Amino acid sequence: IKERRSVQHNLAVQALKRPDDIAIQFNDSTLTFQALYEKASAVSDQLLEMNLPSRIAIQPDNQLNSVIIIHGLILAHIEMVMVNKHLTEHEVKRQLDSIDVSIIITENNYTSLSCIMPETLFAGAADRTAVTTYNPEDILSIMFTSGTTGVQKAVPHTFRNHIASAERCKESFPYDSESKWLLVLPLYHISGLSVLLRSVIEGFTVILFEKFDAEAIIQSIQEDGVTHISLVPQTLEWLLAADLERHKLQGLLIGGAKLDARTLEECLKRELPVYTSFGMTETASQFITASPDDMINHPNSVGPVTDDIKVAAPLNGAGEILVRGGNVMEGYLYPEEANQVAFSDDFFMTGDIGQVKNGYLYVLDRRKDLIISGGENIYPSEIEQLVLSIPDVSACSVVGIPDEKWGEVPALVYESDNEHDRQIDEVLQNIAKYKRPVLYKRISELQRTSNGKISRHRVKEWLLNEI
Ligand code: ATP
Ligand code: MG
Repeated sequence: IKERRSVQHNLAVQALKRPDDIAIQFNDSTLTFQALYEKASAVSDQLLEMNLPSRIAIQPDNQLNSVIIIHGLILAHIEMVMVNKHLTEHEVKRQLDSIDVSIIITENNYTSLSCIMPETLFAGAADRTAVTTYNPEDILSIMFTSGTTGVQKAVPHTFRNHIASAERCKESFPYDSESKWLLVLPLYHISGLSVLLRSVIEGFTVILFEKFDAEAIIQSIQEDGVTHISLVPQTLEWLLAADLERHKLQGLLIGGAKLDARTLEECLKRELPVYTSFGMTETASQFITASPDDMINHPNSVGPVTDDIKVAAPLNGAGEILVRGGNVMEGYLYPEEANQVAFSDDFFMTGDIGQVKNGYLYVLDRRKDLIISGGENIYPSEIEQLVLSIPDVSACSVVGIPDEKWGEVPALVYESDNEHDRQIDEVLQNIAKYKRPVLYKRISELQRTSNGKISRHRVKEWLLNEI
């Protein structure tokens, strides 16, 4: 039975509890919780005056005004559909059509949609008549998955999902109201939005960055006393290349993709408190996290399993990772068919394969990317990790290609300025022959999704065309 109750808005609570504490820092400006609440209330009033439908889209950039509008939408009880700002109009239109939304807050001038310029939302003054309570079962945000495996699915997150996710995060990645969390991940992704929401749930400061600038981020870590930062493996690598040091950092939260052994080792050498985590849009951010100690004692794991996490029907120890909890979405808004295979009892089926050893979870690969060759399972990431140990290979991807005899065989595409076929042969010498790619192709830039993830699905398409 679901709760239906009214809860005081978190931002309103923080404005009462710690009015003068800094909610957000951006370049040289800061906003206190009180100021943020007032500005967001003004935007909320303006939104309510516009008589908008209960669900509209927003294409936020990582700037103060976007943060204020996001809180304004929350206070106005308008469900926000988060749209990646790098998409073309055609792509935006297609996403929004899939969930019947036609109004978007954007700096862009899309002719196929009804656009609201962000500036126009700052015209009114706050009279704070806006409702200050919400129902936990209401939808706060709707986000699209990355589309790494094909179709981008629309995921609704309720207030309850976000709050449970913040609680779950805090258990394994400790933070408090004194924390200063540097946020450079995009607000239209769950990894970015979740930091912003945690900040008003807990009452800590967000140090917002518009774009990734390694020098400026390192300077902020030194001078602003950053305690927490969320990164993806790629941005962590860039910071390491720019001589990142610990200073006051208590935690670097890494998610979104596997962290390779080379990078991890470098972090340990510099005594950086790296936490690797695992999660997805559907689970409103990470749901399992390995602490620096965990990573020393259980290398490559993503953390200790709880009752809410299990591996289904394991074969040789490996099976699909299932998860349940308040942070897990209710079901996709689009495509609806995806829901038929998304749940097993009260557990969400992540689509990722994992293994539990000594109580710790290891992520092997995506179910869809598993290569089955002559009845043997091949996990592409096992081979990719080996190839990535060659310093000149910046990225790579292993995909299955059709084969008459074996059904499927692995093939490798690697990103590098030079040819490294012989070195690849060498690093793959110690693995079983059936796992070794039957061909290597070098490419100057691997196929990625709009948020920079390597898409094996698109790599495969390209490769099949090449051969
Ligand atoms: P789509 O579902 O549209 O194909 P996507 O799954 O990449 O795209 P996201 O929700 O952004 O969309 O990403 C979640 C996925 O990222 C996970 O299901 C998993 O495959 C991968 N991932 C996240 N963290 C890790 C990790 N620590 N190790 C390995 N893979 C990870
Ligand atoms: Mg996915």
